[in-house]
Amino acid sequence: MSSVAPLPLFVRLLRACGAASIVLGLSLGASACRTSTQASTAPQPQPPQYYPQQPYGQPPYYGQPQQPQPQPNQPQPQPVAQRPLLPPLVGVAAQQQEVRSILAELINVLSPQNQALVRGIPLTFDPTIEVNAFAGCDEQGTPFLAATTGILEAVDAIAQTKATDELFGTQTYEAYCNAVLPQLVRSDKARAALPAGIIPANLGPDLRRWSRAREIFDDVIAFTFGHELAHHYLGHTGCAKGQAMGSGPDPARLGRLLSVVPIFNQAGEAASDSAGCVNALDAGRARRPQYEWSDTGGVLLLDYFARIERAGGGGGPLSLLNPVQFLRSHPNPLARIPIVQTVARTWRSQHPG
Ligand SMILES: [Zn+2]
Repeated sequence: MSSVAPLPLFVRLLRACGAASIVLGLSLGASACRTSTQASTAPQPQPPQYYPQQPYGQPPYYGQPQQPQPQPNQPQPQPVAQRPLLPPLVGVAAQQQEVRSILAELINVLSPQNQALVRGIPLTFDPTIEVNAFAGCDEQGTPFLAATTGILEAVDAIAQTKATDELFGTQTYEAYCNAVLPQLVRSDKARAALPAGIIPANLGPDLRRWSRAREIFDDVIAFTFGHELAHHYLGHTGCAKGQAMGSGPDPARLGRLLSVVPIFNQAGEAASDSAGCVNALDAGRARRPQYEWSDTGGVLLLDYFARIERAGGGGGPLSLLNPVQFLRSHPNPLARIPIVQTVARTWRSQHPG
């Protein structure tokens, strides 16, 4: 955003290991060298087991609302905004469709020039459990976007816990981070998904909680893909030129495409944070009277990655040994939060009301 002074922060320009492809991660997760073997042998996504498994359109959402019963010594719900309740977002297929829908909304509010560069870019879902999102180019120089199963699990966990804490005054986000993040930095087999038992059983079915969780999920995904889209239309990947788009790489090939060596390009990463935040805010405003996306999504996501970094040794020398790839390769995400907040403040001053 031109009115915001460039901030001397982070970028990761990720170069292929001697290959023609290039991939830019959100510096969320990261993309140090990864092999296709890893991708092809990764566990297939499993339906989450952490909530009542209710397919869309089935009770409890469309049944009688299950308001939580007041419990002795339980915090009482905080007042919530009077917005229509959204259907629960349950399962990988529904989450993937949600990401596609958000991506379309983001593209719709870009400038005509930027729309021409990125419209039709295929979005590939990578079944690996590493928490990451990417903007990249395949071997033919065709742009793509990708999201891993890991990032969907992480954003779902953030959304479920933050919604619960917001409504009921609980500390489930802290409990989730304390339970999961130390494992995540110790083992590349650990998953970011929300374990059973973090959300109190009596609060699980609450429809306001499900609805708020979906709003938060969308907010975080909007920032994530606002950032990744920006890598393409700002020219960081170098392959989004308004050409006819392909159908996107087969997920089984992503491992090879993501075999990259990261280098930092602070200006580019800050530019993608700024442009991605503005894109999410513009798309959020266009959603009125629905829930508007804000800088909350970016702040939540970057806070989550800052916590992972802390769990892995705070970015100090020990983190160089950490199996979580981005801890070896990117600077502290906490320092990116002020970018997002500054951009949002400026945007709000220019878009009152
Ligand atoms: Zn990035």
